[in-house]
Amino acid sequence: MKSTLSFEVFPPNTQISTEKLFNTLDELQLLNPEFISVTCSNNQQDIETTTLKLAEYIQHQLDIPTIAHLPAAYLSRLQVDQLVHQLNQLGIQRILALRGDILPETSPKNDFKYASNLVKYLKFQDPHFQISGACYPETHPEALDRVTDIRYLKQKVNAGCDQLISQLFLDNECFFQFQEACYLADIQVPILAGIMPIVNRNQALRLIHTTKTKLPRKFLAILEKYEHDPIALKEAGLAYAIDQIVDLATQDVSGIHLYTMNNAETAKHIYQNTKNLLHSEKNVAS
Ligand code: FAD
Repeated sequence: MKSTLSFEVFPPNTQISTEKLFNTLDELQLLNPEFISVTCSNNQQDIETTTLKLAEYIQHQLDIPTIAHLPAAYLSRLQVDQLVHQLNQLGIQRILALRGDILPETSPKNDFKYASNLVKYLKFQDPHFQISGACYPETHPEALDRVTDIRYLKQKVNAGCDQLISQLFLDNECFFQFQEACYLADIQVPILAGIMPIVNRNQALRLIHTTKTKLPRKFLAILEKYEHDPIALKEAGLAYAIDQIVDLATQDVSGIHLYTMNNAETAKHIYQNTKNLLHSEKNVAS
């Protein structure tokens, strides 16, 4: 079995980065991804002005299926109805239904307390929507424990998820164990593995300080040795991500979802080095 390749991009916040992103998207198009997903902050205005605009460009100008991320903890039912209407008008049928992060100073609205509430609501509004859900190979940080987290994940899938997209991870064993736990819990939808190539020091430091991602010895050794040599660090970070993908593809993972950080060069490099392992039924750029 071959695995799919898809990309994640995020809406930029300056004019220069907006132009850069459109160039990036044009380059990603040549790699014929299964889909490109667009992240979204938990603010309705951002969804309309940035996420939907980008998703529309990907879907209609580039002719690539897109997934719009939709975090709903701070949205009312009415706001979600309006967004559903807009998505339908734009012909965007794929949504990553999320709760989103809870901000310490702002209470969420209670209409969509968990992502599963949103999944169920969206499927009820329009059964044609293809809904993805987020999942966490190393357990969601707020979860009591892994078993509870998987139990809620199962509820989310039963509410109508067609596939799951995983949080990034650097230790493939965590992902394989998670897949097995999902299998035992009778979660049968495809699980796409989230891979983020770590190509610079700031990105690595952010990862260390802001996430609970397990950092394998091999990865820490790379950081330690090349932290002050940007070119070597980038080369080693790309090789690390490729090594992860080779292992995952060999084990028949459903798909690789690459967190591109809006960087086409990184995505192209990874694509060139893994394309024969990954699935593409269309003609692809060499
Ligand atoms: P949920 O599935 O609702 O889970 C959140 C927590 O609640 C978990 O601990 C779960 O175990 C628990 N839980 C679930 N159901 C119940 C229940 N019935 N009772 C009690 N507890 C329950 N954030 C953004 O703001 N924008 C993005 O674009 C974005 N994209 C993402 C893409 C991916 C692939 C991933 C993995 C994450 C993304 N996030 C994004 C981050 C995500 O919003 C946060 O991780 C958030 O904290 C959880 O969202 P969720 O949809 O996974 O929540």
